[in-house]
Amino acid sequence: MDFTFSPEHIALRRMIREFAENEVAPIAAEIDRDHQVPMETMRKLGQVGLLGVCFPQEYGGMGAGEMGYCILMEEINRVCTSTGTNVGAHIGIGAMAIYLDGNDEQKRRYLIPLARGEQFAAFGLTESGAGSDAAAIRTRAVREGDSWILDGGKVFITNGGYADVVTVMAVTDPALGARGGITAFIVETDWEGFKVAREEDKMGIRGTSTAELVFEELRVPHENVLGKVGEGFVTFMKSLDMGRLTLGAACIGGAEMALESAVRWAKTRRQFGAELASKQAIQWKIADIATELEALRSLVYRVAWLVDTGQPFGQLAAMCKLYGSEVASRAIDIALQIHGGLGFSRDFPLERGFRDARIGEIYEGTSEVQRIVIASNIFREHGVRIRP
Ligand SMILES: Cc1cc2nc3c(=O)[nH]c(=O)nc-3n(C[C@H](O)[C@H](O)[C@H](O)COP(=O)(O)OP(=O)(O)OC[C@H]3O[C@@H](n4cnc5c(N)ncnc54)[C@H](O)[C@@H]3O)c2cc1C
Repeated sequence: MDFTFSPEHIALRRMIREFAENEVAPIAAEIDRDHQVPMETMRKLGQVGLLGVCFPQEYGGMGAGEMGYCILMEEINRVCTSTGTNVGAHIGIGAMAIYLDGNDEQKRRYLIPLARGEQFAAFGLTESGAGSDAAAIRTRAVREGDSWILDGGKVFITNGGYADVVTVMAVTDPALGARGGITAFIVETDWEGFKVAREEDKMGIRGTSTAELVFEELRVPHENVLGKVGEGFVTFMKSLDMGRLTLGAACIGGAEMALESAVRWAKTRRQFGAELASKQAIQWKIADIATELEALRSLVYRVAWLVDTGQPFGQLAAMCKLYGSEVASRAIDIALQIHGGLGFSRDFPLERGFRDARIGEIYEGTSEVQRIVIASNIFREHGVRIRP
């Protein structure tokens, strides 16, 4: 048994493509130029149910599983990586942490409005001294009666500038470190002590908010501990596994956009008395993109199916992210080259696609980190423990 797209998945893809073409594509250049998060589009995505695509209906979702969520990420990223990133940070890591490890009450209170797009989520892990080495975080949470007092901060948090809810990882027992000393919390951003300190000015995905957050004596009720005290590192790593798979799906969208543009241009542009499509050097470039895209699609949807059928997938999720981000970058680079000077012009979306694709190799664990994860899993099976 392996993955297949059900009639429901096919109908869902049709509906999302229509939404993406009508609501997302027309504003993609504008939000990049103006460095604006498309809040209205985000709310519409919620209204049509897409921000809850993978969550069960009892928590405000559509119940289309990880396959459905990957379809959403593919189709949105095919037309706009910024909007895809906003959606991914909201569903795939922010709300996902609550879905995976929240209790029933937390899911009712937070997941339902997040799934409906009435509120937005962010995922707060990275700190200035803890990027790839996520266990090195310094944000501290100290128990005081029925609350925890958080002090510290996070950097590079997608959706951080406008999220209503942030899942935050903090040190609760410095002596134990990642194994028992880190706890995840659900934080509401209008609580006293929570501050958005600054917004990053970025080369790509400019229609997203990437914010630095500061916590000063931020009081979080004990009932907002996500999962168990001391097990936050596991909660966050589980969410990142899901995030890595769906970033692979996002990269299918980026590579598809590149292939479609390259074919369209090669068919129409004439040089030396013939269409570019007649030149073997161009044909081979297009064959290379198409082959890698097909391999990526097979990998990503197979892993989504493993998730939906409750099978292990962590190692393959790292491969989805590593391979996907590199395939998308390569595909857009090739498509841009096929467009010659026009590919370099801001009048053509490939220039934006080229800048946007670069982040795929950095966030949610760099390509180097994915290679470390993949290699350590392989060596562990052979009785060898490797250190990052
Ligand atoms: C636009 C954007 C959005 C983001 N969104 C979020 C978010 O929503 N939530 C969140 O928590 N974080 C977010 N991040 C943070 C992101 O996950 C980190 O930037 C990333 O994990 C890398 O960490 P770093 O930037 O500190 O780089 P570093 O860890 O300092 O790494 C620098 C370089 O060294 C390499 N390196 C590090 N260790 C090793 C090693 N052992 N072996 C070989 N090479 C190594 C890395 O691969 C990288 O190339 C975001 C970042 C950006 C830029």
